Amino acid sequence: MAERILVLEDDPAMQSFLTTLLKTKAYQALSFEQGLPALQYLVQQSVDLILLDLGLADMDGQHWLTQLRSWSDIPVIVISARQSEQDKVKALDNGANDYVTKPFSAAELLARIRANLRQSIPSQQVFSFGQIQVDPVQRKVSRAGQDIHLTKTEYDILLLLLRHADRVLTHNQILSQVWGAAYIDRPEYVRVHMGQLRQKLEELPAAPRYLKTEPGVGYRLTLG
Ligand code: CA
Repeated sequence: MAERILVLEDDPAMQSFLTTLLKTKAYQALSFEQGLPALQYLVQQSVDLILLDLGLADMDGQHWLTQLRSWSDIPVIVISARQSEQDKVKALDNGANDYVTKPFSAAELLARIRANLRQSIPSQQVFSFGQIQVDPVQRKVSRAGQDIHLTKTEYDILLLLLRHADRVLTHNQILSQVWGAAYIDRPEYVRVHMGQLRQKLEELPAAPRYLKTEPGVGYRLTLG
């Protein structure tokens, strides 16, 4: 059955672009231009994912997201015209699952949609990307068959990124999951350990292929 995607966007050209794109990929697209009718619809009907424009005419997109998150955990990808990293971080902290910034390519948006529709990968699975293999049951990491030693913190960060593969994680999401809630707003902790992880896992640590930085926001492990 076609996955249902609700598009909340007040710009007619962008709305039309998005719904046409979704339909060509056999998604069912539902269009809304205003925040309140979209919320009222979502109280009655379920959808699989939401594309949310942060700059709505009738209400602030961040406020809309906070309202939705008070009763729903449907995946939300924010579409932001704003270059500000603060807006993206705020949206993610308000419960958005991911974002794209205008202008974005159709391929980029579709990849984000696929990643966010995907169910979380079960914990017993062996993960692999490039020549790296990660076995969560044995807590073993190897590269081309050779064991790699990771510290506990490095391993915890890697596993968190793997469980959210292809999706963005903010500095604070990583800090609270790996270090604990008392450690938020210490992005330098994450930066240091990500540097070490790249040294151990990436062929070119200075030009990482998998452990990608989202500038000002956080990190994304790209499997493709
Ligand atoms: Ca808008």
